[in-house]
Amino acid sequence: MSLNGSLGRTLNMGLIGGGQGSFIGKVHSVAACLDNRAALVAGAFSSDPARSKASASDYGVDASRAYGSYLEMIEAELKLPLGKRVDFVSIATPNHTHFPIAKAFCESGINVVCDKPMTFTLAEAEELREIVARTGVVFALTHNYTGYPLVRQARQMVLDGLLGEIQAVRSFYIQGWLRTRLEEGGQKQADWRTDPKKSGAAGCFGDIATHAYNLVRYITRLKPSEVSCSLKTFEPGRKLDDYGTAILKFEGGALGTVTASQISHGRENDLWIEVDGTLGALEWHQEEPNKLLFRRNGQPHAIYTRSGGSYITPPSAAASRLPAGHPEAFFEAFANVYVDAFDAIVKRAAGVPVSDQDSAYPNVADGVDGMHFIEQCVGSSQKGGAWVNLSHSACRS
Ligand code: NAD
Repeated sequence: MSLNGSLGRTLNMGLIGGGQGSFIGKVHSVAACLDNRAALVAGAFSSDPARSKASASDYGVDASRAYGSYLEMIEAELKLPLGKRVDFVSIATPNHTHFPIAKAFCESGINVVCDKPMTFTLAEAEELREIVARTGVVFALTHNYTGYPLVRQARQMVLDGLLGEIQAVRSFYIQGWLRTRLEEGGQKQADWRTDPKKSGAAGCFGDIATHAYNLVRYITRLKPSEVSCSLKTFEPGRKLDDYGTAILKFEGGALGTVTASQISHGRENDLWIEVDGTLGALEWHQEEPNKLLFRRNGQPHAIYTRSGGSYITPPSAAASRLPAGHPEAFFEAFANVYVDAFDAIVKRAAGVPVSDQDSAYPNVADGVDGMHFIEQCVGSSQKGGAWVNLSHSACRS
């Protein structure tokens, strides 16, 4: 029996982006194929057609299926029979290109895994949500931190009531790599991330605060109501924010903060979160992802690991591949988002409708949520930190 159940074969993956000199496309290719449920067979790897073709051999992709553009790719792939053509594509290109690429593949009936932030604007995100609903494709968004076993453990502990009522949450994503204006030297990743025409309305907040916010929403399931935000550009001459803090109010009275920085000396990818409930508190750090702290007044601090002890909940256990003590991290968590998306892709292939309301993987509604967060944070900051609405009809629990 194939790992893809009733489908009986490996899923065919296409990659958009990931060309030579790029970052996250390679991670997608490894994560998607980690469990042998997919194989990379085609790609439009670069905005430069020659570089796209030159990148094919890096992935072991046949030169005939390395395309000069994503439009050329759609045209050629649709001529191939089902089973040979791509079943899904992963979009790992700069933010301003996500919407047209995702739209084109969805409308061709091809499932999409897209990197964050989902689109360039909130209006595009809302339109994409309608397109996904109309076309019925599976659409997954790689908020990959939701894939960590101990993040899933944290979410389940909240759901099971171990923390009591959630009253406060603090989430951070702290980096230091843009302490200087790397973009001036043409550093590829810095270049488009600091360009408002490619990154979007926000810099640091669009790039990494969205992950921190998504983690808050994923673990606590709190529904946002209002936000007050201050964004700053500390590096002179930079065009977008490189630091910011948002204060969040949630339905039911809970409070939260999201702080993101790209200018903190020595900090790498310090994404971390603390959740305070009436019965207990949780703390998790992505730079030490195999530990979760659970504290209760008057009791020893508990460090949860992926050990498989009876305290480990089924969603957390299912997300682990190795015995505890063998570290699992970024690739495996990324792969867990793919595993959940693959289950849905196989279901759809068998004619079972998939919904964006109850998916295990971050979906198009989470993408709308993230874009709404970015736009409202920018709007609040422009009004001196005024409180603005943060509820949205697409918001899921
Ligand atoms: P990058 O600049 O390193 O790579 C982008 C790639 O996309 C390049 O190969 C470029 O040539 C290609 N590209 C651009 N336009 C294209 C087009 N129209 N068709 C085909 N290819 C095209 O960027 P990156 O750091 O890898 O980031 C890419 C995306 O992934 C961004 O949206 C970013 O926010 C997101 N990202 C997510 C994570 C995560 O943890 N989930 C981490 C890093 C980046």
